[in-house]
Amino acid sequence: MKKKVFFDLASRVNHLSPYLFAAIDKMKQKSLEKGVDLIDLSIGDPDMPTPSHIVNAMKKAVENSANHRYPSYEGMLSYREAVAKWYKKRFNVKLDPHTEVLSLIGSKEGIGHIPLAFVNPGQTVLVPSPGYPVYSVGTLFAGGKSYSMPLRKENNFLPDLNKIPKNVLHNAKLIFLNYPNNPTSATAPREFFTEAIRIALKYKIIICHDASYTEIYYDKKPLSFMQIPEAKDVGIEFHSLSKTYNMTGWRIGFAVGNKNVLAGLGKIKTNLDSGVFQAIQEAAVTALGTDDSILSHIRGKYLERRDILYNGLKKLGMNLIKPKATFYAWVMVPSRFDSMKFVTYMLDKAGVLATPGNGFGEAGEGYVRFAFTAPKESLYEAVDRLKRIL
Ligand SMILES: *Cc1c(COP(=O)(O)O)cnc(C)c1O
Repeated sequence: MKKKVFFDLASRVNHLSPYLFAAIDKMKQKSLEKGVDLIDLSIGDPDMPTPSHIVNAMKKAVENSANHRYPSYEGMLSYREAVAKWYKKRFNVKLDPHTEVLSLIGSKEGIGHIPLAFVNPGQTVLVPSPGYPVYSVGTLFAGGKSYSMPLRKENNFLPDLNKIPKNVLHNAKLIFLNYPNNPTSATAPREFFTEAIRIALKYKIIICHDASYTEIYYDKKPLSFMQIPEAKDVGIEFHSLSKTYNMTGWRIGFAVGNKNVLAGLGKIKTNLDSGVFQAIQEAAVTALGTDDSILSHIRGKYLERRDILYNGLKKLGMNLIKPKATFYAWVMVPSRFDSMKFVTYMLDKAGVLATPGNGFGEAGEGYVRFAFTAPKESLYEAVDRLKRIL
């Protein structure tokens, strides 16, 4: 008789907090099986296609056999030059494409790997709560400890850096920041970044700024962390073509800034991956040169959707701040619910799916996130359905 073998997961995997999003997925599957006409506003993934001039650049690049071989891990020079040019044009920030730009297989890849390069077991990483889950997962995989910095409404969803205890700062190696912010949609003023840099210099903490949403704005153009004096001395900025050019499936992003930090991340990458398919890098060069009119068209669509959702939810008496950037609305749940109960209630009674705020960390409890990555007709319909149950 064959013996059944059972393999235990490594503790770093076992220690992952139960993935709330997997539970949501199950709920979603169940209601789809029941034939519910679901309006899914839970996904932070643009529904609009990649602009056709980028797709065409990819078609051409795929035909070129020179692109079929291993790419270099740090990225083609032409790609890194295109990134540097884009930073100069968009932010007036000068970058050396040879040492201050690194290609990534999506920014998630770099965010997940950076703790492996700089965090020793037991060292601390400061992470926002609520926040993109990869900050704390990457930390856990490197053996580090996450210290949650709550983002609260009364502080405009910025962490209060002066409330972090001194002993925590002394043991901290990295800090993750993310503005415009997922999930709260908050933006950060210059003074916030200046204060973060002051503290990082004092305690020798590397700042990792996740800037995935700088191009999705409805108000002032968001800042790059790299625009702040001394930013390059203490940190790097992650960016991605995913949200800006509707390219989430393509897997291409980059990190810029402090060359020693980038070299450390590069060391991890040379040993783990072999870079981004060159055809994708060539298409990304085209993307970074995209005419502003295409981007403002995309922003215009999101703006229209934001207004439908924001005005609709406001009229229902819901408590939220008008998003100045990103494609998320961060909404307080009515007091008789918690995050998960409210999500379940909306799904069961109205077929509208949002994300429970506590899925992004404990401090997200009491909120839900709506993503307006759905056509405006769906948003009108969602508001209409919620009106009937609230
Ligand atoms: C979408 C997202 C990313 C990851 O994007 P990639 O597709 O991996 O480039 C990173 N950070 C935040 C906050 C995001 O929402």
